[in-house]
Amino acid sequence: MMISVVVLCWNLVVVAAAVRHDRLEVNAVQACASMLNKLSWDFEPGLNYFSTLCEYEPALGSWSICVSDVLDDSGLAVDEYFNKSFETVGSICSSFNVSLEQYTESLHNASRYLQPFDRHSTLHHPVSVDKTLRTRVVNAFHCFTGNLDRSDDYSVVLCAYVGIVLLICACFRFFDLTAINAYLFRYKFMNYIRGYVALPTLNGTHSAEYKSWWCLSGLLPSRLETCHIACFFLLNIVLLSTGYEVDHYNVLFDGKLVQLCRYVGDRSGILAIAHFPLIILFSTRSNFVECLTGFKYSTLIALHKWIGRIMVFDVLVHSIAYTAYALLTHSFLMSMGEWYFRFGVLATLVLVLLSFWSLGYIRKNHYEVFLYLHIFMAVAFFFSCWKHIQSIGWTNWIYISLAIWIFERLIRIIRILHFGVATANIQLIGKDLLRVTIPKKSQFMKWRALPGQYVFLHFMDPMIFWQSHPFTVIDSGDELVVVLRAKKGATNVVLKRVIEATQNSSDKFFTKMKVCVEGPYGTTSPLHLFNNVLFLCGGSGLPGPLAHAIELSKSLKHKVVIDMVIAVRSLDILEAYINELLELQRSQVHLQIFVTRSAPTAQYGSISSNIHEQAVVPRLKPFATFHVGRPDLQSLINNSLSQNGPLAILTCGPPVFVDKARDITASTIVKNPTRVIEYFEEYQCW
Ligand SMILES: Cc1cc2nc3c(=O)[nH]c(=O)nc-3n(C[C@H](O)[C@H](O)[C@H](O)COP(=O)(O)OP(=O)(O)OC[C@H]3O[C@@H](n4cnc5c(N)ncnc54)[C@H](O)[C@@H]3O)c2cc1C
Repeated sequence: MMISVVVLCWNLVVVAAAVRHDRLEVNAVQACASMLNKLSWDFEPGLNYFSTLCEYEPALGSWSICVSDVLDDSGLAVDEYFNKSFETVGSICSSFNVSLEQYTESLHNASRYLQPFDRHSTLHHPVSVDKTLRTRVVNAFHCFTGNLDRSDDYSVVLCAYVGIVLLICACFRFFDLTAINAYLFRYKFMNYIRGYVALPTLNGTHSAEYKSWWCLSGLLPSRLETCHIACFFLLNIVLLSTGYEVDHYNVLFDGKLVQLCRYVGDRSGILAIAHFPLIILFSTRSNFVECLTGFKYSTLIALHKWIGRIMVFDVLVHSIAYTAYALLTHSFLMSMGEWYFRFGVLATLVLVLLSFWSLGYIRKNHYEVFLYLHIFMAVAFFFSCWKHIQSIGWTNWIYISLAIWIFERLIRIIRILHFGVATANIQLIGKDLLRVTIPKKSQFMKWRALPGQYVFLHFMDPMIFWQSHPFTVIDSGDELVVVLRAKKGATNVVLKRVIEATQNSSDKFFTKMKVCVEGPYGTTSPLHLFNNVLFLCGGSGLPGPLAHAIELSKSLKHKVVIDMVIAVRSLDILEAYINELLELQRSQVHLQIFVTRSAPTAQYGSISSNIHEQAVVPRLKPFATFHVGRPDLQSLINNSLSQNGPLAILTCGPPVFVDKARDITASTIVKNPTRVIEYFEEYQCW
């Protein structure tokens, strides 16, 4: 299945770039037409630029002879290619109904009355173009059309690069699932690469927000993601700046600079449009890339953003190069009168606007407004691009992107229908924590979420039903459990509904609400392959590790050491997951809970809430060790490392906590290059 999807994608890319422009028979027709059309013929031309060549017999004859001579010069099978050349002649003369017979006939007739090329007289007989001239002009067309073909090839190279990276990642994912990695990660070389390049954050922040100026904040890719993005960008630059064949006689364009502007403009435009399918592919939730490579959605979104930015770069180069070309050829005003040009300008403006609209500041503070306007602007950009290139070509890239987008939306709808509409029980715990339990209906195909997976929830409230928000889910078999902390948007509306329901009923801090569930999304981590598992989790990051710990403790066939470290600021989150935590009671999971509030007076239960938080402590104390303060991640990892066998570290928690865990794990791997240490991170943010 996966292989067929990969093959299909590759075929789509090849199809998108399949039209060849640099064909001798086409260049011959164009070159001969351009030379002969400039002559003065004894014929009153119509409005159509090529009317003389198509309608006036001596001109048509000169044209066919010129084409035949060019084919002969290059040693091609003249008859075969002459017939092929009619395809281009036919399309140029489409409004004059020139037939292949007429075209062939004109060749034979004209050869009888042929005279030398003459730029100065009014012609009423066929003329021949001398070899030097026709070779130069054909070569000029070859330089021009060759650049288009090379640009197409380079687009395929760009997509192939991404494809190869994904395949390598898919191999490592396969190695992950089959324990081959546990063998590979014994080697120092591998571990140095992992410790220095593959695992660490770029500069200490990856999940946590990187802040520069007020609006220039956002998420930085990890070091490995940065390498991949940098290679993609460099490849794009190399493909943009190499492989140009310049016509030294400047036959088609008025000077080298004009040629260069045109060629760079074409190249950057074609490369830009080849980014489309990648950008769409990496933005989609239901994504085969995720299954194939095990990439988190946040990684896909990082690729979506950065490939998008690289496309913006190409589009700007395209726009600048074409503007320079239009100015140098004094055709700017004329071009602005053409719809294709206007739509090109519009597409560039929309794209620049879209880039500013996607800044981290807006995403973080107005996510829904960002999302819908982002989609609206993306549609406007696609439409303008389509109108821009509709009559030129390369629309296949747009159709492929559109197909991916529509297909993914359909899958999403199917996924929502698969789970069906359910009535969720929502319970308020503490000030702002909501425990949402969603019963599963009996289904013909069993719906199941694996540990660490998440769903998108639609709360069927008139204020927010169109929104969907991601939440990690614990699947207990008959029901799903989601614990969410109310923020300022949709989750706050749900919180208000619970409080309103409480005022009107005897059920304290409890309500029911219809929900739609879309998912499950994300992949699970193969922890069952390890002898030694350390969970480092905190805050809202508890559900994934908890689901893993429950599953591991239920299905253990051999002795495995499981350490679970939970760092929480307050105890309400433990209360929210109390049923699941109690499942660990008689398991071999060593549970340590760190309460990170620093003030000594802020003891358990001191936060104002509707439940007594301290109630949770006696229930957990029999099998959990409580600490006050932050966990020392390095010593916890060292402690787990003192056990024998491969160690899996799984983290999910507040972003700063996760980034720290990632960097400490990376440095531990470097310090212990012969130990097998796998790092899994389930925190996601985009
Ligand atoms: C994979 C994943 C799993 C998550 N699991 C949990 C969980 O188990 N429990 C929990 O409490 N929270 C979880 N979150 C966070 C949760 O999705 C957000 O808190 C929620 O979307 C906020 O909704 P809001 O409209 O109230 O947010 P707002 O107050 O509008 O925004 C709060 C923050 O959430 C971000 N956000 C808002 N909507 C979305 C969205 N649709 N997609 C991504 N980010 C968004 C905003 O950028 C902002 O940074 C998870 C997030 C992700 C990405």
